[in-house]
Amino acid sequence: MNPEDLRPIEETLDPAGWTDMRALGHKMIDDMIDYLQGLRDKPVWQKPTDTSKEVLNRSLPQEGQAPEEVYQEFLSYILPYNKGNIHPRFFAWVQGNGTPLGMLADMLASGMNPNTTIGDHAAMYVEQQVIEWSKEMFGFPEDASGLLVSGATMANLTALTVARNSLSDLQVRNRGANDKLTVYCSAETHICVIKATEVLGIGSERTRIVPVTDTFQIDMAALIAMIKADIAAGFRPFCVVGNAGTVNTGAIDPLEEIYQVCKQFGLWFHIDGAFGSLAKLTPTFAEKLKTIEKADSLAFDFHKWLHVPYESACVLIRDKKLHQAAFSSVPNYLTAHERGLAAGPEPLTNYGIELSRSFKALKVWMSLKEHGIQKYGRLVQQNLDQARYLEQKVLQTANLELLVPVSMNIVCFRFNDGKHSEEALNQMNKEILMRLHESGIAVPSYTLIHGKYAIRTNITNHRTRQEDLDLLLSSIMDIADSLLIRIIDFDTTNPAHFSAFKFINYAWINKYFKVEQGDIDSLENPEKYFLETGGAVLLACRGDEVLGTTALKPMGENSLELCKMGVSDAALGLGIGYAIGEAAIKKAKDLGATRVYLETNSSLSPALNLYKKLGFSKVENFTSPYARADVAMEMYL
Ligand SMILES: *Cc1c(COP(=O)(O)O)cnc(C)c1O
Repeated sequence: MNPEDLRPIEETLDPAGWTDMRALGHKMIDDMIDYLQGLRDKPVWQKPTDTSKEVLNRSLPQEGQAPEEVYQEFLSYILPYNKGNIHPRFFAWVQGNGTPLGMLADMLASGMNPNTTIGDHAAMYVEQQVIEWSKEMFGFPEDASGLLVSGATMANLTALTVARNSLSDLQVRNRGANDKLTVYCSAETHICVIKATEVLGIGSERTRIVPVTDTFQIDMAALIAMIKADIAAGFRPFCVVGNAGTVNTGAIDPLEEIYQVCKQFGLWFHIDGAFGSLAKLTPTFAEKLKTIEKADSLAFDFHKWLHVPYESACVLIRDKKLHQAAFSSVPNYLTAHERGLAAGPEPLTNYGIELSRSFKALKVWMSLKEHGIQKYGRLVQQNLDQARYLEQKVLQTANLELLVPVSMNIVCFRFNDGKHSEEALNQMNKEILMRLHESGIAVPSYTLIHGKYAIRTNITNHRTRQEDLDLLLSSIMDIADSLLIRIIDFDTTNPAHFSAFKFINYAWINKYFKVEQGDIDSLENPEKYFLETGGAVLLACRGDEVLGTTALKPMGENSLELCKMGVSDAALGLGIGYAIGEAAIKKAKDLGATRVYLETNSSLSPALNLYKKLGFSKVENFTSPYARADVAMEMYL
């Protein structure tokens, strides 16, 4: 056969027109730089529209589209609905902002696109250097080892694998996990640590959850007692995980004490320092976090408090030999050569689970060089100072309650005007948070502190200014204000008051009884029936929304009848009945009455209880125009 006949029609993924691709690339960079520059004036978050969700739910494209069109779809349906963690007023969860140079570094790394695993090429040396710098940052010994991973989740998993596999007599790599192994961590530990122990075959049951003190730090006495009890019961404790900054409140476990316990019992000391370990760069925490230098392993993120774009984190292991022993296994196709590309540094597969790895080291390397570690330290300190500022403002603001003293960069508080049950407060603070998110002004998150719904403001943000924290609090107060129930007088110039008065009462009466003629007269003409006769109509409102009604109707000498007490279904359980009843009694006094009278039905026991609580007592003999009335009550003022 003539080899010429085998000539294929060759395709490639490279552009047909490089000039157009270059122009598109320039436009993308301009657009993204504009986007980052104008961030402060954009909403933190916007709900993805139905159109954008529909576009993102279409089936697999069979044929291609022009890159410009694809980019246009990105601009229309994706970019506007960003999560928002790059924004100066993003305070939810512990997440970093990223930086412009970090963004560009990601582009460069993808352009080079080296699979950073083995071989004699620059990416391997960049990663090595980043590991060396990380060891220096945390005071790990020169002969320690490390690896860049996607997040602290993978860093914790990697470290715990080394810890488990370091029990050489068990030969875990050959025989699988031993069912006597136990590991210890506080109840405030990040869930990814528990997941890691599950993945490692230790299991969540043998991951002993140690209670915390009232400052959310691990209870050392309990830890020691649990270790001793496990040893006595034939278990084999092998590791304690200490927290340098818990995700809920930023609490730091007593690391030095944990270290001593680990020494005493011969256990591996791992620290989850995902974000908090970076506080070691500040004067405030340098001393408190010094014990990190003595840990057997440390997990920390670059993508949180150092703002390198996602994903970038690191695991450091004190004993390089144990690190290698946990993962190295070099098959034929990966063995190093003396020269050529297959030479070079030790394959990174010897230090972790993943084989193919991105060149994430580049964005870390460029970021650390751009800013220098001193500036990162100052930025972490700035966030710590901002958390203190916010704490003080919460303490000084009437109707805000601090739920935990601030230990680092997380401030947990809630709206509490002292007039609501715990349940109502939880409901209200959740509503405040959802409205705040929907407003796009600021995005804190939430947690439960001893059962109390907390607005949790986490500050790991190099873009936040003091004015952003002021705006956060003033917005919360405004929203809370709009949520409070107010009792107001019926306004005859407001049509919404007429319709709400009718709607709520017809619904209320229909739910339990039948509408009678007297209802129709009074509900259709409240102004004639109650107001022009010297009585009153009161409404319970939240913002402009009417949630409850009641009315006072003159009856004989100095007496007023309390009637048309109704609460909309949506507002049950908010204590509106009591509030509006109390307001009606006060109103009756203002109108000069000495007695308030009412009729109701004995089947409505919550209503009877409410009236009793308000101070009414039963009247024995009465006649009523209403068929449903079988109980009458009165109260002397
Ligand atoms: C964020 C966090 C983790 C998980 O880290 P990822 O980077 O999200 O995988 C673990 N522990 C703590 C304390 C964290 O804050």
